[in-house]
Amino acid sequence: MGDTGSVILPDEEAMIAFGKVIADAADAHGVIFLLGDLGMGKTTLSRGILRGCGHQGSVKSPTYTLVEPYAIGDKQVYHFDLYRLADPEELEFLGFRDYFAEQALCLVEWPEKGDGMLPEADLILRIECEGMGRKLFWTPQTSLGHAMADKIANSDIQAIRKVVDRC
Ligand code: ADP
Ligand code: MG
Repeated sequence: MGDTGSVILPDEEAMIAFGKVIADAADAHGVIFLLGDLGMGKTTLSRGILRGCGHQGSVKSPTYTLVEPYAIGDKQVYHFDLYRLADPEELEFLGFRDYFAEQALCLVEWPEKGDGMLPEADLILRIECEGMGRKLFWTPQTSLGHAMADKIANSDIQAIRKVVDRC
């Protein structure tokens, strides 16, 4: 079964490209938490995942709205940024249970802010600095997450390296 893994993503282009790998692995289902400090690239990666799901328009950071919904064909993706959530209880007013109950993909930046209220993540993505670029770690938490990690590990991460080598 797919387990924890990591990849080095030296620039924004590589980050977006890896979003496609995650999108293919998730197939528009599940809960993915994105961890990492401000400016690590969580929104950039979310943009890559949304593009990878087939979204062609712009991707706004949901910093003020807390959640942005995307209907992409028959896929539903919700992009959360809980940074400005003062109290996890506020999630009740958002009707957040409905979002997570659906057969949708939920991407959550700053899940720490919703501690105790959010469902378990299927997959946790953590981004750290690596020189001028980033290192991304993925950790599955559920059987769905292990299936995603399997697909990520077996995906053509080489294709990302090729993108990287071109730079
Ligand atoms: P966050 O949502 O974590 O606060 P953002 O997605 O807004 O972060 O990105 C912050 C900055 O990091 C952007 O300027 C983006 O171009 C840059 N960035 C994203 N991914 C990478 C990467 N793999 N290597 C270097 N810079 C990156
Ligand atoms: Mg962000």
